[in-house]
This record gives sequence, structure tokens and C-alpha cells, in this order.
Amino acid sequence: MDEEKIKILVVDDDSFVREMLASILESYDYDVDTAENGLEALKLADSSPDIDLIISDMNMPEMGGLELIEELRGAELEVPIIMLTGNDEISTAIEAMKIGANDYLLKDENIQETIPISAEKVLEKHQLKMQNIQLMKDLEQKNKELARMVFVDGLTGITNRRYFDNTSYTEWGRAAREGAPISIIMIDIDYFKFYNDTYGHQDGDDCLKEVARALDDALERSGDFVSRYGGEEFVAVLPNTDLAGAMVVAENMKANVSDLKLKHESSKVSDHVTISLGVGSISPSRRSEPSDLILEVDKALYKAKQNGRNRIEIIEEEA
Ligand code: GH3
Ligand code: MG
Ligand code: MG
Repeated sequence: MDEEKIKILVVDDDSFVREMLASILESYDYDVDTAENGLEALKLADSSPDIDLIISDMNMPEMGGLELIEELRGAELEVPIIMLTGNDEISTAIEAMKIGANDYLLKDENIQETIPISAEKVLEKHQLKMQNIQLMKDLEQKNKELARMVFVDGLTGITNRRYFDNTSYTEWGRAAREGAPISIIMIDIDYFKFYNDTYGHQDGDDCLKEVARALDDALERSGDFVSRYGGEEFVAVLPNTDLAGAMVVAENMKANVSDLKLKHESSKVSDHVTISLGVGSISPSRRSEPSDLILEVDKALYKAKQNGRNRIEIIEEEA
């Protein structure tokens, strides 16, 4: 711990015991606060989270030790507690340990020596527990980030090829089981090589980011997704969507990219950045695979390029 003193709250209705324990603990360089009963202790623990340890008597008016533990743990206050017990109260002390006390100490002639030992051990154990909890939280957070990163394209921030490969497969299977249609759109930027040649790779990257966002913005349903397929090619999967629905999305994608009005003076089809799209829809059979449709949609995209770019073409027939 840092230079700040460790703070211990001593709870006992007997002022003589309170003073005695406080002076013992202070001689070990602890900072000591006192309370006369459980209720007062609870209020203090609640309002000052800097209390590191509570050492409490069992039998007290207003609120005893057991009830204090119950209240603290019920409020998810993790502060460790050492119970003070007489020889005739051992069974209650055991009860206290069961419901969340961290240790118990006999109020006898050895207390001067036992109390600092117990305090140190309980504090150390508690600190380790807290560190452990924090480490677990950090790990969980890191794992979440990592799992996310595995499926996100570093440049554009949309999902990547790996995500597409996994998820299209899952969605395909679902569509086959449910007899539902599924659509795929493949998108490729027109004359992007010229764009890089004219404006440089950095601007090319910025263009890819903006196009990715424009494509993503065209998606309407929560199950729809668009991934970076590679280079300047993108692919969208629209579960539960027939060809008519997919065409609406494709038109919106084309319009969204065009509306970016990204200057492209070396393009042969427009003065700004445009895309070509291939669209296909199918109610998949159980034997088919996403690649069957992708192949056809890729042909449609090729056709869009052949037919002059900046346009949408659909697959010849159902794959
Ligand atoms: P088309 O209209 O027929 O699609 O022509 P195109 O020039 O877009 O097609 P081509 O496949 O010849 O060129 C793709 C270009 O995309 C070439 C490559 O340098 C560029 N490219 C691929 N990935 C990236 C990237 O991550 N950043 C940048 N800036 N350029 C990329
Ligand atoms: Mg291209
Ligand atoms: Mg390409």
C-alpha cells in the first residue's frame, strides 16, 4: 500500500475496549476510527470507502456484529471484518465466519499480540483478493477486445473477411433450415487503382474508410452486415431478404457512395468515386454452400464492370 495509513474501524459498545484496541492498533501505525455499535459502523463504512478493515464486537445494542456483517455483505461492501469474541461465544463467531467475517479473535489477555497479527493477515489476504478480482476484470476486458479485433478490419472498422466467412456460413445454414431467402451483394470501387495513382495511397485508404461507412449506412436490418472482402472489395449478407429487398439495399449503397462526392478525376465513368455491385438472392438447399452464391454474385459484379461500371447487376438465375 502507499504512504497513506491503513484505516481500521473498531466497533465496540464498551468505551474501555474501544480505547484499548485503538491504542494497540495505533502503536502499529494504523489509523483508527471507532464506532459504538453496528449501526454506527455501517453508516461509517457506507460513507467512507477508505476504511480498510473493521474489527467488531459481537453483542452490542442497536446492531450486533452478525447483523453488521449481513448488512455489509448485503450491500456488497467488501471491507474485511474481524470479529471479537468471548470464550462463551465461539459458536456465534463461527456463525460470523460462515456469513462473511474474515477472522475472529478471542478477547483475552493475548489480544495485544493477536490483534496486529490477525489484522495484517486479513488485510494482506483481502488485498490479494481485490488484486485478483481486478486482474480477472482486466483479462475479461482484454479478451472481449481481442475477440472483437479478430473480426474487425483494421483500416475501415467494419467486419473483416474472417467474420464474413464464419457468419455467412452460419446464416446460410439457418436460411436452409428455415426455408428463408438470403441475399449477397458484392461491391467493388470503380477505377480505384487510378484513384491511388492520382491522390496517393493515404487518400486511397481514407476513401476506403468512407466507402465502408457509406455501405454500412445502407443496411437496414440488425441481421444485415457488410465486410471488407479484400482490397477495395466489400461483401454484404442480408439474411431473410429476397432479391427485391436486396436491390433496395444495393441502390442505397450505390447512392450513399455517390453522395460522398469524393473527387475522382481519373475515373472514366464519373468525376467522383463510384461503385459497381453484383446482387444475388437464393433460398438455399441444405447441400449448397455460400460459395455457390458468391461465385454467381461475383460474375454479376464482373458483368457490372463490363457493362460500364457505376451500376448494379443481378445473377443470371438462382444459383
Ligand atoms: P475496376 O474499376 O475494374 O475495379 O478497377 P480498379 O482499378 O478498381 O481495380 P483493380 O483491381 O485493378 O485495382 C484495385 C486497386 O485497389 C489496386 C490496389 O492498389 C488498391 N488497393 C487494394 N487494397 C488497398 C488498400 O488497402 N489501400 C489502398 N489505398 N489501396 C488499395
Ligand atoms: Mg475496383
Ligand atoms: Mg477489385
